[in-house]
Amino acid sequence: MIGKNSSQEISLYFHIPFCTRKCSYCHFYVLPDKENSKIELLTAFKQEWEQWLPFLQNKTISTVYFGGGTPFLFGPERIASVLEFIKKDVTFASNRTEITLEANPENITLPIMKEYRDAGINRVSIGIQTLDDNLLKILGRLHQAKTASDAVIQTAEAGISNISVDLMYDLPMQTIEHWDHTLKQVRELPITHLSLYNLTIEPHTVFFKKQEILKKQLPDEETSLAMYERAIELLEEQGLKQYEISAFAKTGFHSRHNVGYWTARPFLGFGPSAFSYWEGKRFRNIANLKKYCYDLNNGLSPIDFEEKLDPQAHLRELLVIELRLREGVNLEEFQIRHGTIDTQTLDLLKALKQQNYVNIDDFIVKLSKRGILFYDSVASELI
Ligand code: SF4
Repeated sequence: MIGKNSSQEISLYFHIPFCTRKCSYCHFYVLPDKENSKIELLTAFKQEWEQWLPFLQNKTISTVYFGGGTPFLFGPERIASVLEFIKKDVTFASNRTEITLEANPENITLPIMKEYRDAGINRVSIGIQTLDDNLLKILGRLHQAKTASDAVIQTAEAGISNISVDLMYDLPMQTIEHWDHTLKQVRELPITHLSLYNLTIEPHTVFFKKQEILKKQLPDEETSLAMYERAIELLEEQGLKQYEISAFAKTGFHSRHNVGYWTARPFLGFGPSAFSYWEGKRFRNIANLKKYCYDLNNGLSPIDFEEKLDPQAHLRELLVIELRLREGVNLEEFQIRHGTIDTQTLDLLKALKQQNYVNIDDFIVKLSKRGILFYDSVASELI
């Protein structure tokens, strides 16, 4: 069973937006990798941290996540500096607080991973995406399949044993045979966790401009569902148990950081474009490094978007997100944590049960197999 949050536990997210080159499908806020920008960002992180410090008394840090962009490009020394200023001011939940770094395969070497280990990183998430060289080229990625496998092995050799990889399906020209090949190759790697993504074509990407051509090359809906089901089957055979719609882990290695997102653990996001969830409000920092640094240098808040949801709408949203977990949602316990669910929402759950999207047993609501495959329909019914 995945532990739910203690009231004082929080998570921290640091957004490091630099990338060597923008991938063809990427819609994130990313910037070219420049030394000056990294120096400015480190100063701004410290200033933003100091703005939040008065609100962090009595809090313990459950997880820290360095995401991006390619946070690896920030370098072990700067990552160590960030962890030092956090540790100086607040308590970590335990010696094994999960501290994750996202990395791309082409950057990973054994010596540098040892430096990251010494800096305090104890979990690495590697964006391997596929182990097919042609598909990697189509995605605009800089690595090849062999680089990806070597990167995982070198990370393990550096003494970081908690390794997650990202895989993508629904790619242009991808067949079920390609997908099988990648899933079977992944079995050989020393990983503890895997996150699955299907390609979505977003505005402001290279793929968006070429979407007319690409759409003809994408797997059809039936193949896409078959790929998802095949992943569940092969990964579970490998001992990677599906614990969330798109996440698989060996026993005890679920992503504590992501479980926080799914169970409404408060988190603060630092850096340009970073989101936060705090005291029932969601907000986002400005997606502009210069303006973000300017605001912090001048003692201003870098937040440029904030929303507080209507209480029942918020509750339904929390329920929909937590339903992503395979263990489901215990409605009694959920209501103790978040408040009473109204009859309209309970009726919607009953209707979803009748349509065989969820099972309800002893106050525990869980997605059925059909609900897992068509989660988007469940979500849109409830929200
Ligand atoms: S490495 Fe990740 S963040 Fe950077 S461009 Fe590619 S997909 Fe986007």
